Amino acid sequence: MAIACALSACAQKPRAEKLAGIEIGLPDWPEQSRHDDAGNGDLAVADGRGSRVALAWDVDPRPRLTPVAARAAAGLGPAEETPARIAGHDALLLRHGGGATLVWRCDVTRRLFRLGVAGPRAPEIANLAAHTRCHAEPIFANGDVPAAATSALGPTWTFANRGRGSISWTRGDEVLTFFAGQTVPPPRDAQAAEEQAAGWIGAAGLSHPAPEAAEAADGPQAHSALRVRGTAQLDGHPVRWTLLFWNCVPRQRTFTAVVFSAGAPDESALLAARCHA
Ligand SMILES: [Zn+2]
Ligand SMILES: [Zn+2]
Repeated sequence: MAIACALSACAQKPRAEKLAGIEIGLPDWPEQSRHDDAGNGDLAVADGRGSRVALAWDVDPRPRLTPVAARAAAGLGPAEETPARIAGHDALLLRHGGGATLVWRCDVTRRLFRLGVAGPRAPEIANLAAHTRCHAEPIFANGDVPAAATSALGPTWTFANRGRGSISWTRGDEVLTFFAGQTVPPPRDAQAAEEQAAGWIGAAGLSHPAPEAAEAADGPQAHSALRVRGTAQLDGHPVRWTLLFWNCVPRQRTFTAVVFSAGAPDESALLAARCHA
């Protein structure tokens, strides 16, 4: 009886945790990673024999979760995806070689969550999901939003507002927004950047995003970036936008910034972002 217990149900008895306003029951395995930060954090455990369970989250200003955003957050290309629900939120379950990742956006705490399992002894992801409460406590974190170098931005831009996971400046009809960095991989290539741009254009307050072209470009602080240009609408009026994705190696974050206007937006303003000291 004791052996049966050690090998099956008892070995996977969840260990209830509460961190960063989240309740979760992970297997009682050694910890691989723990970042107890409400804005960008994670908790990962592994049994040392090839099985692993991990939960990660980031402040996410995008208005909704799309399949493109879910795959990007899971670091996956095309995957078998199934609609799911978790803690009252719409989610996508992505099954891939040897594991599964559940991705959802908590609209209460405005965070993007990824719950992943891999390996032969990992619990069923549905059981883990049933023990996860992403908005057990209110969260007011703004996340890892870049500052703007005043010297690079120039005196003509004025501070507009700070939202959950974003900060904006205006100059005439131009609007510049820096978004909080996320612990997800950057877009793999120009095509992936073009696909992912639409969700961030929505977060900038625009509708009808239509990317036109994406290419490699210089990013802030000597980072290399992917630049996407396109059109959208603001209150029914056409605008042009330019968006940058870049990976900040010192901070291990993927950052996004966008500038738009009715005419030609000043793309150099994007380079004023300061993602690391
Ligand atoms: Zn939630
Ligand atoms: Zn950086």
